[in-house]
Amino acid sequence: MSVLETLGSKDAIALEDKYGAHNYHPLPVVLSRGEGVYVWDAEGKKYYDFLSAYSAVNQGHCHPKIINAMIAQAQKLTLTSRAFYNDQLGVYEEYITKYFGFDKVLPMNTGAEAVETAIKICRKWAYERKGIAEQEAKIIVCENNFHGRTTTIISFSNDENARKNFGPYTAGFIKIAYDDLDALENVLKSEENIAGFLVEPIQGEAGVYVPSEGYLAKAKQLCENHNVLFIADEVQTGIARTGKLLAVNHEDVQPDILILGKALSGGAYPVSAVLANDEIMNVIKPGQHGSTFGGNPVAAAVAIAALEVVEKENLAENAEKLGRLFRDKLSQYCNHSNIVKLVRGKGLLNAIVINDTEDSSTAWDICMAMSEKGLLAKPTHGNIIRFAPPLVMNEEQLLDCVRIITETLTEFEK
Ligand SMILES: *Cc1c(COP(=O)(O)O)cnc(C)c1O
Repeated sequence: MSVLETLGSKDAIALEDKYGAHNYHPLPVVLSRGEGVYVWDAEGKKYYDFLSAYSAVNQGHCHPKIINAMIAQAQKLTLTSRAFYNDQLGVYEEYITKYFGFDKVLPMNTGAEAVETAIKICRKWAYERKGIAEQEAKIIVCENNFHGRTTTIISFSNDENARKNFGPYTAGFIKIAYDDLDALENVLKSEENIAGFLVEPIQGEAGVYVPSEGYLAKAKQLCENHNVLFIADEVQTGIARTGKLLAVNHEDVQPDILILGKALSGGAYPVSAVLANDEIMNVIKPGQHGSTFGGNPVAAAVAIAALEVVEKENLAENAEKLGRLFRDKLSQYCNHSNIVKLVRGKGLLNAIVINDTEDSSTAWDICMAMSEKGLLAKPTHGNIIRFAPPLVMNEEQLLDCVRIITETLTEFEK
């Protein structure tokens, strides 16, 4: 047995602390196994996973269909680069484009890469189809967005932590308030060279902010009126998380460019994708964009399996049903609580807002106490706790989790 297989939690944390860059601040829990909605730590303690790796593990940990597809493909062929064709990619491209209703897909690996890809496609479309003068294209983004960690993406973040001292920043972005149609319309009317509007249908990282009903449909209409591409970043909200296949489906919106990642592989492998129709995607010609690993045969096989699971196991319907139950139970609790202000969300992407300041440790302390009781969640932005379990959860498990959450909150009531 290797050293790593025998490591206890304390030693594992010490190693990460000493040899790893300190770019994360994890809860002190060391996980060594996962199955479905459960994970186990190095000492064998069992937990409900209520984060799902930021919604990458929607299909549950180590889903056998996804893992089997990955193993089978890994034993045959893992990587050719796109210098040659492989026999899995075309099959996957047909499958995913029909699944989401687009002409074409551009395969990448991580969410941030897919966002970068969407930005490049949007700009190129603006110069070659819309006729914007070179170097002048602008993309509208929203305040408090989260689209990843590359230098261009953090250039239009307003999270100081994500941005400060990483400049010089990439130009060409205009920031407006989220969920504000007037702000969008004003920019579209007053600015000349707008190429696209990049938006999260629900702002996940910011703290699960659900926009007003009709926002997405009307924003899409405004973009259409001004010949501006509506770009939906569904890396976190997509693939059944919010109770529909895509969060934009709640308002029957078909984006011009769709960005997917995270649960596209069920958490088994980094797989991301950008989808668009021909008149947009065809601006990209050979040599103009790419990725060594993008579209590799393992990713293709894994993504097909992951999307099949979502459909065959009715994960969107389950997320819708359990999400309603979760918010019902939690808002009943909120009605007579001093420690929780409110619960909000859609499907199984939810959050509670703790009644304390953003710089208080209360949310963190509540997460620590929940982990003691066997449920893992993490604060986002100080006083907000996101709740996003795998979508393969059943009602009995969800009610057990509601019990753990409310019992823990009760201990924190003053
Ligand atoms: C996680 C996330 C990303 C970035 O994905 P990575 O795989 O971490 O690069 C982009 N957009 C949204 C909305 C996300 O939640």
